[in-house]
Amino acid sequence: MTRDRRRRLWIILSCLVLILVSLRLFIASSYFDPSPNPAKKVVVVFRNDDIQEFSGSAMDHRFLKLFADNGIPQTYALVPFKKALGGELVSLLKEQQARGLAEIALHGYAHQNLARKGKSEFAGRPFEEQAGKIRSGKAHLERIFQREVVTFIPPFNSYDSNTLRACSQEGIKVLSSSHFFQVPNPYPLQVANLNFLLTDPASYVELASGHGGDLSIFVVYYHSYMEAIYRSDDYFGKATRLIQTIRRHGNIEVDTLGNVALRHAGYFRERVLLDAWFSKTAVFLSFFRQTSLVERLSRLYYCNGPGSWPLVVLALLYGMGLSFSAGFALGFPIVMLWNALSLSGRWTRRLSMLLGLIWFLGMIVMSVDDRFGIIDMAAGVLLAGSLLHLVVGTGQNLRENESTL
Ligand SMILES: [Zn+2]
Repeated sequence: MTRDRRRRLWIILSCLVLILVSLRLFIASSYFDPSPNPAKKVVVVFRNDDIQEFSGSAMDHRFLKLFADNGIPQTYALVPFKKALGGELVSLLKEQQARGLAEIALHGYAHQNLARKGKSEFAGRPFEEQAGKIRSGKAHLERIFQREVVTFIPPFNSYDSNTLRACSQEGIKVLSSSHFFQVPNPYPLQVANLNFLLTDPASYVELASGHGGDLSIFVVYYHSYMEAIYRSDDYFGKATRLIQTIRRHGNIEVDTLGNVALRHAGYFRERVLLDAWFSKTAVFLSFFRQTSLVERLSRLYYCNGPGSWPLVVLALLYGMGLSFSAGFALGFPIVMLWNALSLSGRWTRRLSMLLGLIWFLGMIVMSVDDRFGIIDMAAGVLLAGSLLHLVVGTGQNLRENESTL
């Protein structure tokens, strides 16, 4: 490598580091702390998925009793055609329903995975098929529970624009999925996605109850039947702590998904995009072990709603910067190998095209879940970093080789 090229590399590298460090310091500043708000209101929704897996065990009963004893309502996502619905589960749910503590939501059809890539029972399927399954599932649950079913929760949280159309045609008023989604919704249907896991710290709910904008809504997602499978996750302990937090604060209200989504339609409509970008950014930064940054981002996101956009954008920029720098660093061994091989210009072009093709195919095969488009984006930025290094590190070589041909 010539002196000139080495100098150019160091200039680029220093600029990268300088930009990243300043960005990190700015995001870490108290400028982004959520401000105290005594008039704050918090609403919590519990979304208990796959409740048909109820086994009648002591653990299952303990879980249901926790909510019943505390008078805390829940939305139970029930699959209509996976298991025969009846017996103890149905009578327990009807009991809670009579006390105003249960909403029965339609959770797909038979919870089958019909996708070739990823997991889905609805997304990717024809409109007529989706509409037919929603129609019969809704009618089935309404026959059993004698109440209108207004909420649809797609299995594996995966849905597409046909699902939205089918839901609004079949009289569903609310759809709830994962916050990673941002499918455009032109229908008179409310989308209220989960934005909080039962395993997330209750301290966010506590903080939001006294800080930030006027309203924070937590849609808490969990599977109570998993308590018996993943004992170390301590779902029961976490649910107990969250309920204690709720009871300690007078300004935290709990209601069902259907009620909350319809009552606060504007809140959810404003947040769909923010939810998607927050969750993607958090996953991305966690990959780089930026735990404190993710925590800071979460605090603002849960307290502030749309007001937390600037931090999400900055955090995303920072994450992309990290990815670009990683790609740039990866360029060092590649450039060394390239120079050691001292290939002709023609061969360099052929090899670059081949490597590019392998990279592209690899991305298609390996991106298991296209909902997390951010991983592909990050890989693209990483590639850009390596390419820049290649251009700076071998550019002169290319021209030198070509002139000797
Ligand atoms: Zn499910």
